[in-house]
Amino acid sequence: MKILVTGGAGFIGSAVVRHIISNTSDSVINIDKLTYAGNLESLADVSGNSRYAFEQVDICDSAAMNAVFNQHQPDAVMHLAAESHVDRSISGPAAFIETNIVGTYVLLEAARSYWSTLDAARKTSFRFHHISTDEVYGDLPHPDEVPTGAELPLFTETTPYMPSSPYSASKASSDHLVRAWLRTYGFPTIVTNCSNNYGPYHFPEKLIPLVILNALEGKPLPIYGKGDQIRDWLYVEDHARALYTVVTQGKIGETYNIGGHNEKQNLQVVETICDLLDELVPKKGSYRQQISYVTDRPGHDRRYAIDANKICRELGWQPQETFESGIRKTVQWYLANSEWVQNVKSGNYQSWIDANYNRK
Ligand code: NAD
Repeated sequence: MKILVTGGAGFIGSAVVRHIISNTSDSVINIDKLTYAGNLESLADVSGNSRYAFEQVDICDSAAMNAVFNQHQPDAVMHLAAESHVDRSISGPAAFIETNIVGTYVLLEAARSYWSTLDAARKTSFRFHHISTDEVYGDLPHPDEVPTGAELPLFTETTPYMPSSPYSASKASSDHLVRAWLRTYGFPTIVTNCSNNYGPYHFPEKLIPLVILNALEGKPLPIYGKGDQIRDWLYVEDHARALYTVVTQGKIGETYNIGGHNEKQNLQVVETICDLLDELVPKKGSYRQQISYVTDRPGHDRRYAIDANKICRELGWQPQETFESGIRKTVQWYLANSEWVQNVKSGNYQSWIDANYNRK
């Protein structure tokens, strides 16, 4: 198969591209605008492979996207390109509306126009896989909001959408567009909604890499509010395997939730990282002493948790990492890859990170 991956220079997209090139015989065309979050160095392991091609294109550029489809003639699309950081969506929502909503619309139309020219066999096997987030569902009751012993609900594929942030609202909107293109035009789409990812090559504005790097630099480790927000963490390589499973075996029109059954409070995550660093890079005193509480994010969702039984049952996917094994690998990766870190941090976004997270 020839798979067109959008956002392949980002955190999850690059894991998907590395997975496909390293573990299958399929080809990849990586379409990425290379925003602050896109980094071709994350693809250094595969960029010399003859089954890999890169085009620097904005998915909002309709003429350029039509040209990409005509030139490369893909068999499937995996759509990951997005503005992805909730805090940035609060301080500047416009780019989220543009890329996540308008960009998805432009991509759907370019893909549909190309698909309509395919012969019957290729038309039938074509897939448009839209990669989305569990944040579209809003948030779930926190353990401190339910009676002791009561069962805590999980997000399923039929949970109603209730997005809270400009980011999650823009992703919800794109999910609706994708499903409408299936219903209205018979365009063969599949949607996946995944929980929070972590792992190597994660841009250091997100909680886990930010905490690892701030800890090593002796900076405060910012915790929003009380740090009791719960996220369901999935190792990025487990997500990449799940996405490849869905694009190759998933059923048209279906939604699959993807998650690692790893609910953790943010404070627990940060303390785990501190304890690993105490073990791997010991210093006088514990890294926990750098924990610093900051004003909570407006509209902050309190708990996310995914019921991933459908993809496990129907497509046989299972996460391979526990949180404990994945977070150890992640910390070790950041310790061993300071050059990658220095290169991504040398962009102009360092001032944004300092202004938003590194305030005293
Ligand atoms: P990321 O921010 O690391 O990467 C996004 C990539 O998209 C970057 O390479 C960027 O250059 C590219 N891009 C942005 N705007 C573009 C445009 N207009 N045209 C072409 N390329 C553009 O994001 P990520 O964390 O890898 O997330 C990838 C996808 O997975 C997103 O759609 C996100 O909503 C979804 N998702 C992320 C998580 C998570 O925990 N990170 C969880 C569930 C779902």
